Amino acid sequence: MMSDAPIREPAYLEIEKLAVAYGDAFALDDVSLSVPRGALVSVVGANGAGKTTLIRAIAGMVQVHAGTIRFDGHDITSLSPDLVCEAGIGQVAEGRQIFPSLSVRENLRLGGALRRSRAHQKQNLERVETLFPRLAERRTQRAGSLSGGEQQMLAIARCMMAEPELIMLDEPSLGLSPLLTEQMFDIVRTLNGDGISIMLVEQNVTESLEISDSGYVLENGTVVLDGDARTLLESDLVKKAYLGM
Ligand code: ATP
Repeated sequence: MMSDAPIREPAYLEIEKLAVAYGDAFALDDVSLSVPRGALVSVVGANGAGKTTLIRAIAGMVQVHAGTIRFDGHDITSLSPDLVCEAGIGQVAEGRQIFPSLSVRENLRLGGALRRSRAHQKQNLERVETLFPRLAERRTQRAGSLSGGEQQMLAIARCMMAEPELIMLDEPSLGLSPLLTEQMFDIVRTLNGDGISIMLVEQNVTESLEISDSGYVLENGTVVLDGDARTLLESDLVKKAYLGM
């Protein structure tokens, strides 16, 4: 007999009951979350909550102990990092990880070297240099000589060169001045407005939830609260634990 229950469409990125351990210590346990297509979703939490581990698990950079990660209908749990990138998931790591001795242009070219984007490198360069005119001005400069804010822009621009459909950003505001932080969140919003799904991992709870559709609060490796971003911002837990109210 056919069931009348609606068939639930899997979300674009769907994580179910994910567990990751370093040795005997679980950094993530029973974490379920989803990023709908085109959405901007924040994962917030204090130092050591497991945010970076979550990104690294999706990116195929740490071993998954249990659970599944699905992207666009495919099981990508435990795929190698290069295959996760080829599947359309880009990441901007905490601490930026650009190549300091290479020029801005060379860093961008490396970002575009994936099979999925190689053929469009010229157009992609034009696109990111239009979005980040500062990087265009400095294209021949050594990346290591850029300011902290410019290096963060370069890390995002390099990620975009691979034409990701979903970008995971690990604390992009870390170490930036309030003005640059604001610009950074504007850029994240612009990318999302261009149709890129975003998973934004942040300690900057107010700013990230303010630009997000929905969010998850991670504490000690588990999700303690989730919901639409506005509701989270108004929740007692977020107000007390993260906004000092
Ligand atoms: P931060 O903002 O400080 O980066 P986070 O929320 O991103 O924090 P994680 O870096 O994912 O948290 O760390 C989660 C837990 O896993 C912490 O207790 C951390 O000490 C531990 N951890 C992270 N990386 C490793 C590792 N390579 N080996 C052992 N333990 C680790």
